[in-house]
Formats: sequence, C-alpha cells, structure tokens
Amino acid sequence: MPASDNIPPIARPFVSERAKKTLDLVEEFVEKECIPADALFSAQLGEGEQRWKTTPPILEELKAKARKLGLWNMFLPKNHFSEGAGFSNLEYGLMAEYLGKSKVAPEATNNAAPDTGNMEVLAKYGTEEQKRQWLKPLLEGEIRSAFLMTEPNVASSDATNIGFSIRREGDEYVLNGTKWWSSGAGDPRCKLYIVMGKTDPSNPNPHRQQSVVLCPAGLPGITVHRMLSVYGYDDAPHGHGHISFNNVRVPVSNLVLGEGRGFEIIQGRLGPGRIHHAMRTIGAAEKALEWMIARVNDERKKTFGKPLSSHGVILEWIAKSRIEIDAARLIVLNAAIKIDQGDAKAALKEIAQAKVLVPQMALTVIDRAVQAWGAAGVSQDTPLAYLWALVRTLRIADGPDEVHLQQMGRRENKARKDAITAKLKWQKDEADRLLTANGFKVMSHLERRTKQNRETMRPFFFGAYACTIQCRAYLRTYIHKYIHAYIHMYSTRDRNYGHENKKKGLSKEEARQDFIHSTGQILLDLKNSN
Ligand SMILES: Cc1cc2nc3c(=O)[nH]c(=O)nc-3n(C[C@H](O)[C@H](O)[C@H](O)COP(=O)(O)OP(=O)(O)OC[C@H]3O[C@@H](n4cnc5c(N)ncnc54)[C@H](O)[C@@H]3O)c2cc1C
Repeated sequence: MPASDNIPPIARPFVSERAKKTLDLVEEFVEKECIPADALFSAQLGEGEQRWKTTPPILEELKAKARKLGLWNMFLPKNHFSEGAGFSNLEYGLMAEYLGKSKVAPEATNNAAPDTGNMEVLAKYGTEEQKRQWLKPLLEGEIRSAFLMTEPNVASSDATNIGFSIRREGDEYVLNGTKWWSSGAGDPRCKLYIVMGKTDPSNPNPHRQQSVVLCPAGLPGITVHRMLSVYGYDDAPHGHGHISFNNVRVPVSNLVLGEGRGFEIIQGRLGPGRIHHAMRTIGAAEKALEWMIARVNDERKKTFGKPLSSHGVILEWIAKSRIEIDAARLIVLNAAIKIDQGDAKAALKEIAQAKVLVPQMALTVIDRAVQAWGAAGVSQDTPLAYLWALVRTLRIADGPDEVHLQQMGRRENKARKDAITAKLKWQKDEADRLLTANGFKVMSHLERRTKQNRETMRPFFFGAYACTIQCRAYLRTYIHKYIHAYIHMYSTRDRNYGHENKKKGLSKEEARQDFIHSTGQILLDLKNSN
C-alpha cells in the first residue's frame, strides 16, 4: 500500500494531490535507496580520525538522485517561506516520518537538522546579505551549519542562564565563552555557527539580554576541543562539538534581527523543528516495529517449540506498539495543522505535546523490539540500539521534558482555572435547582458524603455485628462451663477433700498442693472435651 493511502483520515483533507505523489516518492526513495545505503555510509566513514575528515561519497550520489526526483528542501513550509519546495508543515510532516527511518535520508534530501532550523532562522530573520551568504549555499546543500546555545557551565534548559559574551567594539562584536553539544560542528562542511549569547547582561528584562550572531567556523580564537558521544556513538561526521571562543571578532552586520532579540529567534526556530524531530521519530518507531515483527516471525528462532509470534505477550507488544504509534502520529499531525493555520506561536501547546509524547512513545516501542531480538537487539547487528540512543536524546535536546511539561501545566492551569471553577459552581447550582424543583432534598457535600459513607460501610457494620453476637455466644458457653467447674470444685472441696485428706493423712499444705493439681487436671479435661 503506498504511503499516500496511509494518511490518517483526519489529515487527508489538508493534503494536496502533489504532496501525496511526493509522499509516495519519498517512501520509495527511503525504502529502496536510502535504507540500503545506510550500511555503505557507515563503511565509507571508516575508522578513527578519518571519520571527521570525509564525506561518504554515497551521500552526494543520493543527493543528486533526490534532487532529480524533486525531493529537496521539503521542510520550508509554503505559508511562511518562498524558498522551499512548496509544501505545508503537515505535508512535510508526513514525509519526515519516512526520512526518520534512515540515517542518510534527511541529509540526502536536504532536510537534516540542525540545518533545517538554521535555514528557517535565516529565511525568517536574515538580511538579504545574510541570506545570500549563508542561506543560499545551505539551501543548495553545499555547506552545513551548527546552532550554538548550550553551555557546559550553566543549566542551559533555562536559557536566561546563558553566560556567553557578545560585546560590541566599534563595528565588530567580540565573542567570548564556551559552548557544547554544538551538533553538526564536526562535519568538515560545517561553515556557519549561529551563536546565542548576551549583548546586554545587565538588562532588567532577562529575556532581552540575549542576541544571536552569525559566526563563520574556523575564525581565529575558535577552538574545537572535542566531539561528545551519545551513549558511545560519535555521530560522525556530524558530531556534537565542545567549542570555546577567545576574542573572536565578527562584523556587526552578522547580528540577526537586532540586539536583545535572541529569545524571540530561538522560540521561532524551535517550534517547527520540534515537529520535524517528532515526525522523524514516528518513523523510527515504525522501523522498530518492522524489526520486531520480522524477528518474532523468524521460523529458525523458536522458543519452547513456537515462533515468538505465537506467544500472547508478543502479540500484545505488537498491538500496543501499533496503537501508541498511531495515536502519537495524530498528535504530531494535529500540531502541524495548527502551525499551518496560524504560526508556531499559536501552536505552542500542540508542539509541546508532540515534543514530549513522541520520544517517550518511540522509546517504549524500540525497547520492546530490542527485547524481542534478545541479545542481538542491543548489538550493532540491528539498528535498534542506535535508534534507542538517538531517540533518548530527544527527551533532553531542544529542552528537557520537565521544562515543557512545567510550561504546559502552567499554561493549562492558568488558562482554565477560572472558567472551570465557574462552570462547576454553575452546574452545582443548577443541579440543586432541579432537585428542589422536583421535590428532592438538596444535601450539602458533607451530608452527601456521610450518607454515602453510611451506605458503603453498611455491609461491614452488619458483618461486625454478626461477628460480635457469635463471639458472645461462644464466650458465654465457655465462661459458664468454667465458672460451674470452679463452683463445683470449691463447694465440694471441704466436703470431699477434707474427709479424704483426713483419710489419707495429708497435712494442710499437702492437701493444698493436691487441690491445685486436681483443679488443673479438671480444667485440662474440660478443655480437651471441647
Ligand atoms: C544529542 C544532543 C544534541 C544537541 N544539540 C544541540 C545543539 O545543536 N545546539 C545546542 O545549543 N544544544 C544542543 N543540545 C543541548 C540540549 O539542548 C540541552 O542539553 C538541553 O537544553 C538541556 O540543557 P542542559 O543539558 O544544560 O541541562 P540542564 O539545564 O542542566 O538540566 C538538567 C536536567 O534538569 C531537569 N530540569 C531542568 N529544568 C527543570 C524543571 N523546570 N523542572 C524539573 N526538572 C528540570 C531536566 O531533567 C534536565 O534534563 C543537544 C543535546 C543533545 C543530547
């Protein structure tokens, strides 16, 4: 079934015929050209230092094929940019799902992060000169870029903490500070750093202190210290750079949008980028499910005489994965439609929902697939281990889950608390009015609770009562018996024992011991007889 037949009905009315055709082409290109080429890409990268110096030739071959098919720059939405391929966020979202199934597909079609977000920044906020110098070669896929915001010495999920200094001196900005997790900075074709720092650290408004400047890679004063790994994967040649700046100078014309507008830019940049990540991640989850299905139907590898797919729990994993992927896809497509109908700002809630939900869903699905593969699942023999590492970072990158959840929770609470409180009060008043009008007693909350409690507890009270009655009867029988036995013993003691003692010639103390012994024996007999 072609990809266009799988578009969820809810999204179908928003997808053009041209987009459907392109979607089918994307699917075919990814499944038939890119996925088989992933292994060759890794092989051509080689080992050691060379991994950071080469661009695997297969990539350029795929780029040429993709361009011929018209599969190029689909990410720039037509509503907001004229430079892209003319698709909406929704249409590109559907395509991005397939791109997420292959390592090389996003770059082969020039839809790879972080270039996509960086191109959006330049297209949206750049001057004509900035666009000519940087956007054009990026759109052509000639160079690559990195976005430098996160710093090693501060908690960067709160961007007001950013300490990087951008100080103006005459016609230049002087850049000082250290950045890390600068994704893409390892690539020898990375020519542009988009850097966020503080131009006005004493501004009383903490959201007006930051600015964004364009900085060519390799300027004097820039040191790339190392590439950080992700669960041991180096992500070469892309990489995640740890970079310091020591009095690096750029012309003031490299400022983007204006001083103090850094926050505005990162907000604008991260919105659609999160949707792209989310849709690619849906593709990663689909891929994991495919691998799981392949393994559980492998006739050669049965457990307890049956293929894994005959075990109920495995079928449950498949079913749950299907449900979770399909539900998450709807969340992402909904966010994409919302952006298309307004802009990223209008879709903040929907974007955050997708940003948080999709990686968590995909991690669950990938984990099931790993489990189904057994030890092979954690090795390099399946793509699952790498997929898991890749997707795990998405719960942190572009802002950790907790920050998005906090903001979402705060917004939801603030926006709804008054209306909800008023509505519930109105509903209660209306319910009381209806009860009174129909001759029923209006009960207070406490009265209702007491009545409810009484009704709930009634069976327990009844049980406890019946128990008490039974115990009392039981106890009464025993107590009566014991009392009777004592009375009998005491009343007959003098008569029987006095006479007997005399007959036996026992002293008073011996008689007392004999009595204690006899009484004990009587009680023991009584107990045994019951
Ligand atoms: C693979 C990868 C690629 C990346 N690429 C880039 C890039 O290209 N450019 C770039 O600038 N950055 C990049 N990053 C960095 C990423 O954006 C940051 O790691 C992220 O914003 C979190 O910042 P931090 O690491 O400083 O964590 P911190 O801010 O120190 O936060 C640590 C933890 O604290 C918790 N936390 C934070 N706030 C709250 C809260 N309000 N309530 C409860 N808990 C909270 C969260 O669990 C969080 O994970 C990348 C990261 C990864 C892993």
